[in-house]
Amino acid sequence: MTTAEPQASDSDRTTDGTALLPGSPGGAWRGSDYIASIKDEREVWCDGRRVDVTGDPKFRPMLTTLAGLYDAQHLPDRADEMLHRSDTSGNLVSLSYLAPADRDELSRKWANSHRWAEASYGQLSRVPDFMSNVVVGLYDFRHELAKVDPEFGRNAENYYHYCRENDLTLTHGLGDPQIDRSSTPAERPELGLRVVRRGADGIVVRGAKQIATLAPYAHEVLIYLSPANYLREDPSYVCWFAVPLATPGLRVLCRTSYTDPGVFGGLAAHYDEQDAMLVFDDVFIPMDRVFLLDDSATAVRGFGELNKWSLYTGQLRYYHRLRTMLGVASLLAQAIGVETFRQVGDLLGELTSYVEIVRLGLAAVDAECRPTTSGLLAPGSTAALDAVADGFSTRASAIIRQIGASGLIMQPSEADLRTPDLRTVLDTYMCGRELGVKDKSRLFRLAADLVVDRFGMRQELYETWNRGDPARVRSMLYARYPDLQRCETQARKLAEGRIDHT
Ligand SMILES: Cc1cc2nc3c(=O)[nH]c(=O)nc-3n(C[C@H](O)[C@H](O)[C@H](O)COP(=O)(O)OP(=O)(O)OC[C@H]3O[C@@H](n4cnc5c(N)ncnc54)[C@H](O)[C@@H]3O)c2cc1C
Repeated sequence: MTTAEPQASDSDRTTDGTALLPGSPGGAWRGSDYIASIKDEREVWCDGRRVDVTGDPKFRPMLTTLAGLYDAQHLPDRADEMLHRSDTSGNLVSLSYLAPADRDELSRKWANSHRWAEASYGQLSRVPDFMSNVVVGLYDFRHELAKVDPEFGRNAENYYHYCRENDLTLTHGLGDPQIDRSSTPAERPELGLRVVRRGADGIVVRGAKQIATLAPYAHEVLIYLSPANYLREDPSYVCWFAVPLATPGLRVLCRTSYTDPGVFGGLAAHYDEQDAMLVFDDVFIPMDRVFLLDDSATAVRGFGELNKWSLYTGQLRYYHRLRTMLGVASLLAQAIGVETFRQVGDLLGELTSYVEIVRLGLAAVDAECRPTTSGLLAPGSTAALDAVADGFSTRASAIIRQIGASGLIMQPSEADLRTPDLRTVLDTYMCGRELGVKDKSRLFRLAADLVVDRFGMRQELYETWNRGDPARVRSMLYARYPDLQRCETQARKLAEGRIDHT
């Protein structure tokens, strides 16, 4: 098998010849190996400083979370559900990279995704399982890429094997920088990422991508553009490729960190996965990492195809986030003795309905799985679930704010709790119905993290925008609804008075 890493020596390869990352034992990561693997020359910037993500106190907590999740794959009680033997190298690899060929494999894949999402309480929007499934989509689409150029198809296939054997953590950046949405790249070339030079050995790209979540913690970025960006007259803006984060000319500009190393707990202390702009300053992409060039029509078709499995795992993750929100809302209500009030029960029931609708929707989408043209088994469409996700999420947050009310901000800090002079007052006035002040304040601060503070607001933004513009998602659902004609026929009959009772 040929590989995407031409420089690797024989000792850096698996038994099937796939190149390994330097120092990697191959197969599914253990936490410490993963951390060592991203200690490289990547250029990550945050708050005006260049940071070493493996050592920086604001970046280290999330790294520790990821390392813990990678270690968990090997736990005796779940290894069977998260790992399997590679059919090419014999190494234990992640089920996130399984390209499922039948019902049994698809079910195993989802069981693994549930593990990832549940272990991170649905808080990690780009838990590595997400992008692994995009690479499965790329692999599935390889025959279409090969029609454009046989080399593209081979590259996609080799890249899939490379990612699987190395358990690669990926980020992706689809959108363009938010400079001026009323202009076109013909007017302002910096609006889009483009190929500026081509050679037999590779291409050189220039431009930026916004946003790439998880970028500082990823091994590589996969670029495949978003549908809104394809239909451009200049084909040099159509380019699909993958490249290591530690590549000369590639800068990772992170938003300010939400982690406060001095403060106890909080979701950001574990789950600030970061969002970044990626700037490509004439970055060389070797030809074996290029998956598509120039062909807008294939890019448009491919966008939906690549995301078949990842959209499903994205919904699984979302389901676990809603469950976390329901759990928190319910505990809040009990903490202050309002859970039996009818209005509160109504709100909790509404939130429960979102959890159940997503669970049932996932079951239905799974039941509608169908073979792909390349012979894999893919879930049905998540389009309807995607179309309501932002609305459910916004309501779930509002419900927690409604139930928690002033308690979401009026809580003692850990420093208050440690102050003996305050303790009697806190124990008297800031406890809950049957909950001591310490447990109550931690619960309410968690709720504030979820739906009030900047971490929660970022999650809210994510749920609104990560599937693309929700207005586009909904109008596409309508435009492609396969049963629309029948609905219209029935309506027409009624309107025309042609009512039959059969
Ligand atoms: C927290 C977070 C994490 C994300 N992570 C990732 C990631 O990991 N990878 C990734 O690829 N993307 C990611 N995204 C980006 C996401 O895909 C985009 O936010 C989304 O596609 C919307 O694009 P935009 O933010 O540039 O908004 P814009 O396109 O700039 O839109 C701004 C406003 O203008 C409106 N608008 C813009 N263009 C039009 C138009 N042509 N017609 C009508 N209205 C229009 C929009 O509806 C919106 O109201 C992330 C986003 C967020 C918020």
